[in-house]
Amino acid sequence: MPHSQRYLQVPLHSNNNIVHFLTSSTPLSLKLKTMAPTATGGLTYPPNLDGHKLTFLGNLPTPDPSVSTIEAIPTWFWLSRSFTALPTNQKSRRSLCRELLDSDHHHLCKTTTFHPTPTSNCTCIYCGDTAHFYHVRFCESIV
Ligand SMILES: [Zn+2]
Ligand SMILES: [Zn+2]
Repeated sequence: MPHSQRYLQVPLHSNNNIVHFLTSSTPLSLKLKTMAPTATGGLTYPPNLDGHKLTFLGNLPTPDPSVSTIEAIPTWFWLSRSFTALPTNQKSRRSLCRELLDSDHHHLCKTTTFHPTPTSNCTCIYCGDTAHFYHVRFCESIV
């Protein structure tokens, strides 16, 4: 999906599932739908509502393949900064998305050959420690 990558202004080799997740237009309804069975399970209804279903739950769109997309997202992504919506401002969007996808990893990595995601052999050129995902946020030698 080169178009999404261009919208997010991240490299084309960026994790497809994350890109899809970021550009997905219905993350909230999807989340509600997936959470609904457990989320409503603990609720007690007034007697006159007994036996009734919360109708809005049935009206939500059926989850599309994005559920498997979410499951396919690498776990390191959930360590990223949380956000509520993609910024409409192009510059802020670029900077948020590049941070979320760790797109600037190569700026601090000793490994100069191409690698789309950090590996266990990655070393930070600033502090000499292992350059994990999002190392740029934790490195104490980068000001
Ligand atoms: Zn690296
Ligand atoms: Zn470092």
